Amino acid sequence: MSKRRFVIQKHDATNLHYDFRLEIGGVLVSWAVPKGLSTDPKDKRLAMQTEDHELEYLDFEGVIPEGYGAGTVMVWDIGTYRNLRSGKGGDQTGMEAALDEGLIEVWLEGKKLTGGYALKRIEDGSDPKWLVIKMDDEQADARRNPVSSEPDSALSGRSLEDIEAEAGPDDG
Ligand code: MN
Repeated sequence: MSKRRFVIQKHDATNLHYDFRLEIGGVLVSWAVPKGLSTDPKDKRLAMQTEDHELEYLDFEGVIPEGYGAGTVMVWDIGTYRNLRSGKGGDQTGMEAALDEGLIEVWLEGKKLTGGYALKRIEDGSDPKWLVIKMDDEQADARRNPVSSEPDSALSGRSLEDIEAEAGPDDG
């Protein structure tokens, strides 16, 4: 079972949100999750599918000066994932097929988040809406709230303010 990469970028744009991106078919398939991912299986977090991004964007941290997505971007979590619907014990559905079908189940190995996460499409069309839910496994923890308890970068340890300040006036 091959491991592919994922990232969750904290993005201080018009509204603060978390961009969850999975490497699928050579691009980063992306969802904007306003509240970020939870470790509590009881939480159903809205995830709005957005444009695919280039793989090079995976470890981008900095300031988008203007236009679409203007604001500060932090790598909030980063790591690898595997497809729980494929391989041993799975139904052998590949990631591309799972994406088309609207049901993704992945095991994340991040610095903050680990364990199974399900993404379920609830609305189709030009702006598909999904729910992202922590699967009920040994990594589930209703008391942990990493979005608030671990706010800083998984790559550099920096806060959004640090990243913005270090980008300097020429980039900002
Ligand atoms: Mn964004």
